[in-house]
Amino acid sequence: MTKRVWIIWVAIEIAAVLMLAALWPENASATPKWECTSAGGWSMAIDGRRTSIPISEAATVLELSAPDKMRVLNAGSDIERKIYQSMAWEERGGKYYGHGILREGVLILSVSEVLTDTGSTFTATILGHEEPVWAGGSDCVRLDQQSSLQATIQKPEKKQGESFLDAISKRDAITGKRTLNLQDDTKSFQKGQAALTSIVSGYRKQGITVFKPGDAEYDRVKAISERIIAASHYANRKGIRFEVIDLDDKNAFATGGGNFAVYNGLVKVANDDELAYVIAHELVHNVANHVEEQLPMVLLNARRGVSAAIAYTNVQEQEADKVALVYTALAGYDPCASVSFQSKMPISLWEATHPSTPRRAITNKFNCGKVKKYRVPGKVSPDVQKVLQCNELFCNKGGSNSTVGGLLELLTDTAEKQLRLELEREIQKRQFGGN
Ligand SMILES: [Zn+2]
Repeated sequence: MTKRVWIIWVAIEIAAVLMLAALWPENASATPKWECTSAGGWSMAIDGRRTSIPISEAATVLELSAPDKMRVLNAGSDIERKIYQSMAWEERGGKYYGHGILREGVLILSVSEVLTDTGSTFTATILGHEEPVWAGGSDCVRLDQQSSLQATIQKPEKKQGESFLDAISKRDAITGKRTLNLQDDTKSFQKGQAALTSIVSGYRKQGITVFKPGDAEYDRVKAISERIIAASHYANRKGIRFEVIDLDDKNAFATGGGNFAVYNGLVKVANDDELAYVIAHELVHNVANHVEEQLPMVLLNARRGVSAAIAYTNVQEQEADKVALVYTALAGYDPCASVSFQSKMPISLWEATHPSTPRRAITNKFNCGKVKKYRVPGKVSPDVQKVLQCNELFCNKGGSNSTVGGLLELLTDTAEKQLRLELEREIQKRQFGGN
């Protein structure tokens, strides 16, 4: 081919591609695109006070570019554009999770956002700290989909003065997702029991002992569990089931609706206060609905006769710890046993499936001191209902049926795992040189 012919041939090819692109139906090749307006939020001042971010009509237009980048076609502010530039994105189950590390003067912030077809939630924390310093939400419309019209019609009316968390639960009601209502929890309860039955029979078939009432191991777990359940959001639930399995793993797992299992390896190394904390922790994984997605894996492992393990995200762990400390204290056990327990098992299955970070241990140490006052040693506190409603670690303003959840529940999955890796990398860099 001469040079001239080759150029003509390339030109024809390009023209063909352009023609095809022009003929292609717009929706088939459209990349995800959102138009979002702020639904409010808050930021924290240096003195710790929260200042609200007003609801705004200024639209931010985002478009997914490349597989993991979000292009800002219209930004409300420079800082907003900077935040989106810092974040990497991942799609999972129709939701988009963004996370990044942002340097703003002397501050290093970790930022994360969860974007759905109808809205987004956003938080920023100072690197190495737990509590958000900035949190907000947006109402969004998908511009690339026909259903965006539907979303516009269903878009909730904004009311000034509405709290950020109220805004979330409202949006959740529209998308069908809402914070857990224990009265609607019957299904998880039944599923959790069926899962335990299946798990137990799996182990028995492998010749592994599952302890029965009258066995010392079972009776010890029973005595502690009864007090913890009575001090939990499941206080009024009858028939919660638990099993003690004779495997050496130092671990426990929840199967949903309050039901759980403990391995004997853990029963052997933990004292009563520590065991109480572990059971409380598993109970919260039930209450906060952390369980169901991963249950098939547990069943499969039981059938193989190996230990069943559910891996949670760091955010779910923090949530479970926070509430578990309150249960432990209300049940009359020492909530600070959470600290001795974690230091007792530096490398174990517990560590692998309930991810821990140094900051989690530090947080427990700090938080257990705050909830010690709820403890009546040796028995269940008479103030369970009142304390569970509002206490030093969480406050539940959504009525008596709602429990934990809300913002924390929304920030989950891969974004959090990736964030944790990045946090650890950053912390290491700061500890061992680098910048
Ligand atoms: Zn856990």
